[in-house]
Amino acid sequence: MSKTISINAGSSSLKWQLYEMPAEKVLAKGIIERIGLNDSISTVKYDGKSDSQTLDIADHTQAVKLLLDDLQKHGIIKDFAEITGVGHRVVAGGEYFKESCLIGDVEIDKIEALSALAPLHNPAHVAGIRAFKELLPDITSVAVFDTAFHASMPEVSYRYPLPTKYYEEYQARKYGAHGTSHQYVANEAAKVLGKPLEELKLITAHIGNGVSLTAIKDGKCLDTSMGFTPLAGPMMGTRSGDIDPALIPYLIEKDPDVKDAADLINVLNKQSGLLGVSETSSDMREIQDGKAKGDPKASLAFDMFVNRLQRFIGQYVAELNGLDALVFTAGIGENSAEIREAVVSGLSWFGMLLDPAKNVFGAEGDISKDGAAVRVLVIPTDEELVIARDVERLKKV
Ligand code: ADP
Repeated sequence: MSKTISINAGSSSLKWQLYEMPAEKVLAKGIIERIGLNDSISTVKYDGKSDSQTLDIADHTQAVKLLLDDLQKHGIIKDFAEITGVGHRVVAGGEYFKESCLIGDVEIDKIEALSALAPLHNPAHVAGIRAFKELLPDITSVAVFDTAFHASMPEVSYRYPLPTKYYEEYQARKYGAHGTSHQYVANEAAKVLGKPLEELKLITAHIGNGVSLTAIKDGKCLDTSMGFTPLAGPMMGTRSGDIDPALIPYLIEKDPDVKDAADLINVLNKQSGLLGVSETSSDMREIQDGKAKGDPKASLAFDMFVNRLQRFIGQYVAELNGLDALVFTAGIGENSAEIREAVVSGLSWFGMLLDPAKNVFGAEGDISKDGAAVRVLVIPTDEELVIARDVERLKKV
């Protein structure tokens, strides 16, 4: 038995989960927030207990040091030597990383060089990777890329209809995101359906704060809704999803609060979506509450959110030329029976019908009506577990 830690490092946060492997048992998990700011908060959850402390943490190395000390302090590990592997989530792997890999100096430089594709994320991942390399230099270190599952997309899907040199010289193409989640739930869906993944046509709908859909055929990604960055696709919590790009210069000229394109992209990422339309919240629970109370803006936000999901599902049914199952996952997809009902009620022509007795809070597995032509599934995602498994797999290489 050995212990493996999954790491998701953001610019000012570090989420982690410690596993006993190969048993895949979660021993502890936690998050360190406000790294580099005053009053950083570190929370550790283990054995049904939760411990939080507030202190100043200057950088990711200090955060990792604190996390390792906390593991010892709470008796979760006795010795650092028990930790034999670390897996780091990396948002952008570009065209270079097509699968998870062991991390050496070359890989660190490459992940850093890909920062143009994920300016907020990749530099933070590199900080997390370096912190572990410094404090635990001898353990297996693995990178797991959000883009890797989408690397199999055909050119017809990943190219934009732009001048070719934009792709050839500037790498302007669709990369997608949430790949680890799409791949995990697709594999789990194949188990529920009792067929090999390679024989299924699936649409996986990762619906959380970020939203992305993937069309899967022959076990591979055929198309996905996030694009060059995660801003593309259906409407999200605070992201607009797809809009007419001609709005960008128009709005920069009109809105006195927006100085330049970077400013507007910030609005499209952080002040749009459910938040922008409802003017109250980016959180689906609050949107549903607002709708129930008759708030017209919350109702419109809900309806637009559903409409954009349906558009992508319809598009992917066409691209796949058929469908075996639609899979809901992530915070909204797993928990909101109301969203699933609203989305699927508009897809009956495609053969999707929900069983209201199965489409309830806490549902897992098949929630469709007996005899419906296309199955609708709820599969909880588990990106941390995929990361821990990849560490185990690559340890043996
Ligand atoms: P992230 O993309 O940040 O990982 P999550 O996958 O955790 O986000 O999803 C967060 C979203 O899930 C929020 O909009 C939240 O309101 C929504 N959510 C969580 N539980 C419920 C619920 N019971 N009903 C409706 N929405 C829910």
